[in-house]
Parts: sequence; C-alpha cells; structure tokens
Amino acid sequence: MLSNIRVVLVGTSHPGNIGSTARAMKTMGLSTLYLAEPKVAPDGHSVALAAGASDILKHAVTVDSLADAITDCSLVIATSARSRTLDWPMLDPRQAGEKLVGSAIKGPVAIVFGRENNGLTNEELQKCNYHVAIPANPEYTSLNLAQAVQIICYEARVAHLNQTPEMVEEVEYPLAKEQENFFNHLEQTLLSTSFIVKQHPGQVMTKLRRLFSRARIESQEMNILRGILTSVDKKVAIANKPANDEQEALTKEK
Ligand code: SAH
Repeated sequence: MLSNIRVVLVGTSHPGNIGSTARAMKTMGLSTLYLAEPKVAPDGHSVALAAGASDILKHAVTVDSLADAITDCSLVIATSARSRTLDWPMLDPRQAGEKLVGSAIKGPVAIVFGRENNGLTNEELQKCNYHVAIPANPEYTSLNLAQAVQIICYEARVAHLNQTPEMVEEVEYPLAKEQENFFNHLEQTLLSTSFIVKQHPGQVMTKLRRLFSRARIESQEMNILRGILTSVDKKVAIANKPANDEQEALTKEK
C-alpha cells in the first residue's frame, strides 16, 4: 500500500538530492519515485547518497512535467516552504501522512516536492488538492529537499503503522487528469458564454480552481458539473447558430 504513495520531485538540480530522497523513502518503506523535468539525471553521486536504496533510483520514472507525473492520482499534495501559499487548503505533515495512507488503499496518490532554488510554480501548486508546510523556524523555513522528503515519508509511515478503519477513504475522487479535463471544459464554456474574455482572462480560473479544491469535489459531483457544462454548451451552440448562418449568408451575398 505504501508503494501507492508516489514521491514526485519537480525540476531537481542536484543529483545528490535525488539519491538522498531515495534513501529517505526506503527507510520509511516507500518505493515509487517520479522525477518530473529533472535538471540532471541520477548519477554516481546519487547512487553514493542513496546507499542501500539504489534500487529506488533504478526504478525511478522520469517524465516531462508535473502533470504527467500525477495524471492517474486521486490525491495530490504539494509541499511548500511558504505557509498558506495562494491560500490553498492546507494540511500539516501529520494530516498529510494520514490522507496519503487513507487514499493509497484505492490507487496511486502523490506527494510533490519543488526545486531547490525556487520551489514549485504557482501553476504547479494549483494542480494539487492540498498544500503542506512543515512548521519550521519562521525565520528560516526552507529545509533541504531530501530532508523535507524524509519528514513527509516518516509521517506516512507513522500513519501506516497506526492505521485505523476511519482513516480509509470511502469516497471516490476524480484523478488529476479528470480534474484537468473538467477545468479545461469549464474554461471553454465560460469563454463561449463570454464570461471570460480570452485576451483578459484575469484570475477567474485560478479562483475557481481554488473554490473546487476547497470543496474537494467527488467523482459523482464532477460528473454532474460536466453534464451541466455540456447542457450550457448545447444551448450556446443553438444560440450561435442563426448568427453564424446569417453571417454566412451575408458573406455569400458579398
Ligand atoms: N526557496 C524555495 C524552497 C525550496 S526547498 C521556496 O521558497 O519555495 C525545496 C523543496 O523542499 C520545496 O519546494 C519543498 O518541496 C520542500 N521544502 C523545503 N522546506 C519545506 C517546508 N518547510 N515545508 C514543506 N516543504 C518544504
């Protein structure tokens, strides 16, 4: 079950951190490592720091983007050294461990770590269901990447060891790719009704993403919302049709 908890490193630039991450994971019983757009591939330095965990490095999956790394995950938690980044739903590390373990029974879930120099971008953070900040010294909150991985993996292990039936997630949540499809659909519909103007999109989609993250939409609810959007799309298509026909007729006349 811990193998369903995927550790995702985004844009890592130090091979040593990749090796230390593998070691941090293996000591806590986690085994699935994804490297999203890494600046470097694991090398001898990574192997040296992985020590007895080089099997995790060997099986690490390299992908082009965070979206590719989380596409089939029903729960994605981003880590950030900055607390309340973007005012997203926040968890503390203990809650994050419990949620990861509770949802991993059903399928893959992900915990995402950012670049050594500047963490995760806002766009990446907005793809995640929750954010977690390790409550560090407020005057110096930025842990070494692999040490942050160690703390979260430890919390996942503790949650796993103390697992109670109540922790098990019964509800079905959409996968990250289904969520992205929903947001794309929502945006397209809002463009078609001119609620959003392409040249001046503003913050509408970001705010809506936050709203839906707060609500933690279930699969069934997302299906209803998709159905509502499709019904709006149909009406918009009908409403636009005569105008299009008229336009066509005018063009022909000319
Ligand atoms: N300067 C960066 C910090 C990068 S540290 C910033 O301001 O975001 C590299 C990564 O380690 C972070 O992206 C995050 O994944 C993790 N990390 C470091 N300190 C953390 C903390 N206090 N809480 C949660 N994650 C942390």
